[in-house]
Amino acid sequence: MSSTSVATTGTGSGRERWDRIMVGNYGTPPVTFVRGSGTELFDEDGRRYLDFLCGLAVTGLGHAHPRVAAALADQAGTLLHVSNLFVTEPQLEVAERLDRLVRSGAGGGGDTETGRVLFQNSGAEANEAAIKMARKYHGRGRHGVVAAFRSFHGRTMATLAATGQPEKHEPFQPLPEGFRHAAWNDLDALEHALDPEVGAVLLEPLQGEGGVNPADVAYLQGVRRICDERGLVLIMDEVQTGLGRTGAWFGFHHAGIRPDVVTMAKGLGNGVPIGAVWATAEVASAFGPGDHGSTFAGQPLAASAAREVLRVLEELDAPNLATERGDELTGLLEALDGVTSVRGLGLLLAAELDLDVLGGRTGPELARACLDAGLVVNGVTPTALRLAPPLTVSSGELAEGVSILSSVLAAGGQEQGGAA
Ligand SMILES: *Cc1c(COP(=O)(O)O)cnc(C)c1O
Repeated sequence: MSSTSVATTGTGSGRERWDRIMVGNYGTPPVTFVRGSGTELFDEDGRRYLDFLCGLAVTGLGHAHPRVAAALADQAGTLLHVSNLFVTEPQLEVAERLDRLVRSGAGGGGDTETGRVLFQNSGAEANEAAIKMARKYHGRGRHGVVAAFRSFHGRTMATLAATGQPEKHEPFQPLPEGFRHAAWNDLDALEHALDPEVGAVLLEPLQGEGGVNPADVAYLQGVRRICDERGLVLIMDEVQTGLGRTGAWFGFHHAGIRPDVVTMAKGLGNGVPIGAVWATAEVASAFGPGDHGSTFAGQPLAASAAREVLRVLEELDAPNLATERGDELTGLLEALDGVTSVRGLGLLLAAELDLDVLGGRTGPELARACLDAGLVVNGVTPTALRLAPPLTVSSGELAEGVSILSSVLAAGGQEQGGAA
């Protein structure tokens, strides 16, 4: 028996196999998770963690949600795949629900015309499809897209070009052309970036990966006005913010505007890969047969998960849950030593840290210390932690998670502050 084929010591087995076989683009992950339930995760040694990250705002209903699991099992035994050459049923209800939710909300335009939905398999693909749709709508010569600095729109070539982080572009040049970037939350900067070739504006309502930076309501309203004046397609990237997480069904609902195109993915399948593009009938009409497609997009397994997720989210009144628990979590975080401010919306929050009080440890270092202490969070910037617990998190779990964070912050101050 080979003793080198599978390591078995400590937490090493998953990590050692990972190091041997996987491409190194994520670095070696610190923990191997084997199962989850609600807000809880368990690693290969059976150790329990509280998940305040949800796989980057994905598992909004918590892990192993019984109704989603049952829907998947049922669909797996019924029909998995036939391609988009044929209609399958689960995606129709998903599309109908998404259209209703997009058009709901204050100023959301519930009285306006039904939109159209196009399924994809991920957030990047949803944005890629939206960009292609906007390009085809306006045609060559008005193919330009303005996005914001510090934005994140995905890792495919076009969505990387749209992503407003130039350092991420460099190794992959040349990227598709036509993308421009303007300072975030700055209407003048956006107007300056508009030249005659620009046909679309692509924005998150709250920059997730960029550090949990909400758009000002006045900014989004101004962007809508400028897009109306100039006939620009306004694409809202709701991949991270959509489906209740921010305390509204969609982040743009906070500003009472109506985009022309909305992309979504993360929370839609509760962990099953699925993305979607909603567009007004007018903009959607740019796509005819043969313009875009994807073998798996909207296939029955993923769509049946999304259908059950949407049913449950609506039954639970997800935006209200996110608002209530988000307020609670904000209050708990604001009371912590070493936290200078809390920003974000609903249950998509960042705690800004006072590194002096915390012995100089950075956000990512503190996130790692939290993991060691049994709490999953993310160091979203060098000075901030991102928290995105499931919308189903209980008050008790919030208190438990924040008390873990509190002891991690306190330990950092004592050890390193004392030695300084
Ligand atoms: C995660 C994310 C994406 C990319 O989604 P993938 O499913 O990873 O391709 C795009 N936009 C935003 C706002 C995101 O948070």
